[in-house]
Amino acid sequence: MADHPQDLLSDADPNAMPLDTAVAAIVSCLVPVDGNEEVSTTDALGRVAYCDVVAAIDVPPFRASAMDGYAFRHGDIEQAADSVLHVAGRSLAGHPGVDALALGHCQRITTGARVPDDADTVIQQEDTTELADRRIRLDQLPPRGEFVRDTGSDNRAGSLLVAAGQPLRGADLAICAAHGVGTINVRRRVKVGILSTGDELVEPTGIRARGQIHDANRVLLHALLARPSMEIHDLGIVADTPEAVAACAQSAHAELALDALVSSGGVSVGDADHVRDVLGADGQVQLWKIAMKPGRPLAFGRLASGIAWFGLPGNPVSAAITTLKVLEPALATLCGYTFIPPRPHTARLTQAIAKRPGRVEFQRGVMTQAADGNWEVESVGAQDSHRLQSVQRANCLIELPVGCAGLEAGTRVQVTLLEDEANGRL
Ligand code: AMP
Ligand code: MG
Repeated sequence: MADHPQDLLSDADPNAMPLDTAVAAIVSCLVPVDGNEEVSTTDALGRVAYCDVVAAIDVPPFRASAMDGYAFRHGDIEQAADSVLHVAGRSLAGHPGVDALALGHCQRITTGARVPDDADTVIQQEDTTELADRRIRLDQLPPRGEFVRDTGSDNRAGSLLVAAGQPLRGADLAICAAHGVGTINVRRRVKVGILSTGDELVEPTGIRARGQIHDANRVLLHALLARPSMEIHDLGIVADTPEAVAACAQSAHAELALDALVSSGGVSVGDADHVRDVLGADGQVQLWKIAMKPGRPLAFGRLASGIAWFGLPGNPVSAAITTLKVLEPALATLCGYTFIPPRPHTARLTQAIAKRPGRVEFQRGVMTQAADGNWEVESVGAQDSHRLQSVQRANCLIELPVGCAGLEAGTRVQVTLLEDEANGRL
């Protein structure tokens, strides 16, 4: 594809797709991976529920006390001349007492213990006075039903505990456990291979020859992509030849049976950029350029084997931002859950920002709360896409819309926190 001359005042490329359109197009090409497995509830954090989980029991499974105190029948006190009860027996958590309560009697009870069937109210210990001869006086009469947790007051048998397609959080797992669910059926992990293309690259531990740099992107992608619902395969550094790139794609299918490949570098129009051609020769390039900055060249397509290939730009900052903005929703689809975009905030720019119209831009910034309580944001400075420091120093992304041609200081801008974007992984 020919490179298009660009208007000096505009950053628009007629072949580049708007980001939202591109993400929707990519997502529409993908379906969740087939297959599921039963895993222990303890090990299911971050996995994606394959089936609904429905409660088989009520929780709590019996009427339970919410306090340490005494269980009694409210009517006994209403009818009595005084507020004195005889203490007959006790019900401890895990050691229930008898269900019968004689008239004017109560049962000592602890938090979580079964409330006798004959009792309807619990008075907390602090509201009673201990008298002689195993008797107590109620210092005040609590309302009927006080401190009794009803059967099924957390969840009733038959209610939906977890819906299919839900990424499982700790609270989901705890609720399943409370209902006696010891294993959960989850979608199988998505197998993703990550590779770096570039003859200039050596491992972080490698010896650099003249003109070589250490590979930062595989470590970056490991950090950004690693999650319980995916299995990451590191395919290493791949040389800048069509043969090497094609061989990598071949082994991704034949040897590793991967679902997706995420490569960085080699997607532009330089002499050493082969990803797009290999993808086109073996399968189909479905999309190439996205009108975003950083990260305009981004190859997406499918190999004949069905493997989805995401060819990210080589500059580390571009690789990071395209991972957040494009890969996250795409991989969520493969994993079987719906991507929820990070919540946008607004903040006031502390300085002017230069921008050419034509692409949506995600500038790295630092958002802080000013003395007047309002949120302010400033750019981290130079935004070159090789400067990983711009990401390291940032706590947010400032979103500058496609048509924006620069902003004055004091303008309110839309900002997303990197913490929300990347879950603490960037
Ligand atoms: P490319 O997209 O292959 O033309 O690469 C664009 C820029 O990113 C070049 O300066 C590359 O040296 C650099 N680059 C590519 N891959 C990596 C990587 N894995 N780690 C660090 N820099 C990279
Ligand atoms: Mg390259």
